Amino acid sequence: MIVVMKPGATPQQVQHVVDLIREFGLREHVICGTDRTVVACIGDKRMVDKGAIETAAMVDRIVPILAPYKMASTEVKTDRSRIEIGPGRFPIGGTKVGVIAGPCAVENRDQLLRTADAVKAAGAIGLRAGAFKPRTSPYSFQGLGMEGLKILAEARQATGLAVVTEVVSVEQIPAVVECADVLQVGARNMQNYPLLDAVGRTRTPVLLKRGLSATLEEFLLAAEYILNGGNTQVILCERGIRTYEDYVRNTLPLASVPELNDKTHLPVLVDPSHGTGHAHLVPAMSRAAIAAGADGLIIEAHLDPEHAMSDGGQSITPAVLGELMPVLKRIAQAIGRDM
Ligand code: PEP
Ligand code: MN
Repeated sequence: MIVVMKPGATPQQVQHVVDLIREFGLREHVICGTDRTVVACIGDKRMVDKGAIETAAMVDRIVPILAPYKMASTEVKTDRSRIEIGPGRFPIGGTKVGVIAGPCAVENRDQLLRTADAVKAAGAIGLRAGAFKPRTSPYSFQGLGMEGLKILAEARQATGLAVVTEVVSVEQIPAVVECADVLQVGARNMQNYPLLDAVGRTRTPVLLKRGLSATLEEFLLAAEYILNGGNTQVILCERGIRTYEDYVRNTLPLASVPELNDKTHLPVLVDPSHGTGHAHLVPAMSRAAIAAGADGLIIEAHLDPEHAMSDGGQSITPAVLGELMPVLKRIAQAIGRDM
């Protein structure tokens, strides 16, 4: 349930409500909106004397939260979350649309630094690349690990781009937090609850990718784990789901974008690279994602896709990205946004 305070409630009056909630054995999550403050109550509500809270000073009303996810829900927070990433504090969510681009994996220093320069020149705000790669086959390139993280930190230093990289296990978190601006939780780990708990205890923004077979409700409940840990900076990423269709690697269900925008205040990015598996489909799906209301894109871009160590077939070149960006900007402007 949420306790909606009347406009003008003082911090002391909000604190009094928080104290009452704690007395009933619940935890609170206070959200200060532009107009009024609401206090979301988390825990078992059966023992709560609602009357005691309802009669507290400046309490407007108590509303049940119907969605199983609470803090992620627009029932609890109606204004959209805006998350700033990287040294440049680029906003994700809000009016601006942002593009994060880069190779699937950090392959070597020269490759990453040159790609970082190229995607920055094309207009990207963030650099993506995996140092730790969750690969389907144990015989595939597994990433450079710690060495890859150091290269990412160098690329951030050199370009000012926000670095987005995957964290595959709980033990890697401290090292990744040092070198990255956004912790990516990959599709395969969307239901790795200890990992969600652990990134929820950090205060670094998290990019949570939708699981290969996850429903939107499961996706939002995964986000709820992170929010429940106290980390409010969660960015969702639609990256396609597995279906019977085989002309694509995954099926990219873009209707999830407006649906998520309805259900949650969290920003939503689209990954048209994993979402299709084919570089020639990436520009069209990028355009469609922005038109559908995505807050941005995360795109695989490689200087030499044919020789990429992973996901070359779905990687566009920085030159293609450069041609795409002004088109995306025009689409964003047509729907009242900008890049
Ligand atoms: C990636 O971003 O390279 C990746 C492995 O993505 P996903 O978890 O969506 O498969
Ligand atoms: Mn990839």
